[in-house]
Order: sequence, then structure tokens, then C-alpha cells
Amino acid sequence: MPPHRLHASVLLTVVLAAVLVVALGMWIGGSYGERRASDSSKPRNHGHSRAVAGAAAPHPSLAPAAALPPPAAIFTPDVVAKTTSTDGVALTFDDGPDNQTMPLLDLLRANGVKATFCVIGENVQQHPDLVQAIVRDGHTLCNHTWNHDLGLGQRSADEIRADLQKTSDEIHKAVPGVPIKYFRHPGGNFTPTAVQVAQDMGMTSIDWDIDPTDWDTATYSVGPTMVSQIVETVENGVQPGSIVLSHDGGGDRTSTVAAYEKLLPYLLQDKHLRLVPLPT
Ligand SMILES: [Zn+2]
Repeated sequence: MPPHRLHASVLLTVVLAAVLVVALGMWIGGSYGERRASDSSKPRNHGHSRAVAGAAAPHPSLAPAAALPPPAAIFTPDVVAKTTSTDGVALTFDDGPDNQTMPLLDLLRANGVKATFCVIGENVQQHPDLVQAIVRDGHTLCNHTWNHDLGLGQRSADEIRADLQKTSDEIHKAVPGVPIKYFRHPGGNFTPTAVQVAQDMGMTSIDWDIDPTDWDTATYSVGPTMVSQIVETVENGVQPGSIVLSHDGGGDRTSTVAAYEKLLPYLLQDKHLRLVPLPT
């Protein structure tokens, strides 16, 4: 074979080998990519309900399994509202109606503010007049379960539905026909089943982004320390769209009312925020 033919032959072999290597590399890379993509599209919430797994699907992540957030965090942004999705700030008051509901209503009315009240069925049964006062002032109602069972979401869908229905029925005994479009799980312990049941009953699950821990009287007791804690946490954290968690029941909430005497003028006049009831 003449030297130039030999040279061409070697060159051809090298080129063919290179093409083979590139093709093999593309094939391996392609199948690897598909495998990753298909892994990421699988539900990652380990046996939670279909609807919630579906809700998490629009944001597939290629992060390795070890870096995944815990299951609750997967569905929370998509199914449980942490903000109002507007520039309006929603003040929400939980665990009533109770002895601080009326002073709080007076304060809200004096400042022209509408809020949202997440009421407990047993308290509604005891204080139907307070539920009527809440509605009369134009506030929004939210179902906070029958007796604040922190583990309700772990029960069966039927048990959860029965609890929420009993609560809504009790509310409607006091205020017939008033819309109940929101659900808040006690302690914020939402589960996919509870969120799904609430949704089936026409209720949006609402979380919060600001928690001034006014429930934690063990740490801050009742008085000026608690008032400062509430005022500072809300003032430092609130922004357009915030959902603020506070309590008008479940313990001595006089500090909460005292805090909002300072907070309402601050939020309205200093921060120029719109304080809105959740829409019904
Ligand atoms: Zn609560």
C-alpha cells in the first residue's frame, strides 16, 4: 500500500473511532438524562394523595434525593396559601370566639379594619353571639376544626370531613348561609389529606408568613414583654401580601389586643398597607 493510502486508512480509522466514541457518549448521556427526568417527575412525597403529588409536579427538581425538602414543604407552596397573592395584608385571628373577641372587634371597627377569624366549633357552640358579631362587622370566617385537634390531618379523609362539616354546621347555626371558604389546620399541621378534604368542601387552606407567637405565653407571659414581641415581629416582618397569624382565643389574649392597638395605626398610617379580609 502506498504511504499516502496507508495514511488515509489510518486517518479514516481514527475518525470512525472518534465518531463511535462521540455517539456512545451521546447515547449514555441521553439515557442518563431521561432517567433523571423521569425520576424527577415521580411523586416525591412518599405516599401522599394524588392531588397533592400532582400539585407538586409543576416544579420538578433534579436535586439529588438527599437534598429534597421534607414532604410538607413540597405541597405547601402550591396548595396551602401563605400569602394573599395581592398587595393586601390579611390579619387572621385564631382559636376563638373567646373572651378577647369582642374587645378585638371593637378595636378593628374603630380603625376601619376587616380581618379573618379562624373559629373553633366548640367555641362557636358556646358563643354564637360572638360569631354573629364577627359577621355583622364584615369579617371573613375560616374553619379551624371542631376542637383544635392538632393531629386531625393524620386521620382518615372521612374523619376529617366529619370534623370540618360539624364545625361548619355549628357556624351556620349561628350565622346561616354565611360563606366559609377557608380552612386552617390547628398548629398549621396541614396534611395532603386535610387539604384535599377542605378543597372538596369548597375551602382554601390558609397558612401564614408572619407568626408573632402570641400563643406562646409560656415564653413571653402576658403583659409588656408579649406586647413588644408581637409588635416587633409584625413590624419587622410584614409586607404587602402577608398573612399574619394571631389569636383571640385559646388563652389570655389581652396582650394580643394591646399589641394591635399599636399595630393597626402603624400598619395603616406609617406603612400604608391595605388590611383586607380574605375574599369571600
Ligand atoms: Zn389554632
